[in-house]
Amino acid sequence: MESADNLRNKCAACFRQFNRMEHLVDHMRTSYHSVHEPTCGVCKKHCRSFESLREHLIGPLPKQECKSLFNIRGCRFCLAILDSPYALRVHQDRCQLSGVNHGIPAHMANLGLRDSLTIDNGYSRGPQVVAIACKMVGGGSDRSLDLCARVCIIDEYENIIFHSYVKPPIPVTNYRYETTGIRPEHLRDAMPLRQVQRRIQDFLCNGEPMWKIRSARGGKARILVGHGLDHDLDKMQVEYPAIMMRDTAKYPPLMKTSKLSNSLKYLTHAYLGFDIQNGIQDPYQDCVATMRLYLRMRRQVHRREECPLASDPQNRNNFASWRQSELERMSPEEMLAISRSDYYCWCLDSA
Ligand SMILES: [Zn+2]
Ligand SMILES: [Zn+2]
Ligand SMILES: [Zn+2]
Ligand SMILES: [Zn+2]
Repeated sequence: MESADNLRNKCAACFRQFNRMEHLVDHMRTSYHSVHEPTCGVCKKHCRSFESLREHLIGPLPKQECKSLFNIRGCRFCLAILDSPYALRVHQDRCQLSGVNHGIPAHMANLGLRDSLTIDNGYSRGPQVVAIACKMVGGGSDRSLDLCARVCIIDEYENIIFHSYVKPPIPVTNYRYETTGIRPEHLRDAMPLRQVQRRIQDFLCNGEPMWKIRSARGGKARILVGHGLDHDLDKMQVEYPAIMMRDTAKYPPLMKTSKLSNSLKYLTHAYLGFDIQNGIQDPYQDCVATMRLYLRMRRQVHRREECPLASDPQNRNNFASWRQSELERMSPEEMLAISRSDYYCWCLDSA
């Protein structure tokens, strides 16, 4: 009854097979499978990232039966399988987003032209979500030190909250004009970095003390969306707790199978269906792209589960509270049912 044993030792999420039950248990302990993983709409296989789901559906080595169905009624942007070719056409018209105009023509985007960085007390609709993006020029003798010279912040509806040039605290040695479009005259009277830093810091915290935001009771502190946020915040000298950040460069479903980040340009092309960062780059476009990616991830419909993240960091996927012998008596489906994700899925922001 070799085959029956093998079936029993097949992971209910990724379908890997193990010769012995204890090996499947070991696999489940370290896989953090959950309802939040990108899942094939045909065979229900769980994938770690959308990129591995894309490989499963499209290639280079796709699963044939999934590929043939995907070819007829699969969306090549969000990778969902629709009910019919007609439903696919209707869906894909909405799923592929059109490009973004520049927020403000470069010659008009002067100091403080859009500046509504205000502290409010709006508790009404949960925390406000904003996206940030910067453009860097070069400093230092080898011209490679990144200096923030332009920053944009938008709200969920792509309205500009703040869009300004920034005067770096040390001399600029490379304006990187071909991609930034920035010239010396743009920065001469721009807002000094120190002032930008303080205002953005206050805007994000929105009146809440840092200790409270860190303790996951952020109240009206803002959720911050971006791509490579650690770098952007570091260059602006803004400090913000990771618990409030939604980084499209570090969100596991949007990363490469190699666990490296994808570029924002690639993610926007592959998952939203339009192009950014051709020629001179406006940070407004980057803000819109990251915000749209965030909203798409937040709108994913995943089954509600109790304790989506186990609170004990040593026992994140719940398995430590079970004895090996208890786990070995479970079916693969039962083990999957108690397994939890090791990352915070953005669908949980919509709760
Ligand atoms: Zn698995
Ligand atoms: Zn989810
Ligand atoms: Zn499949
Ligand atoms: Zn789609």
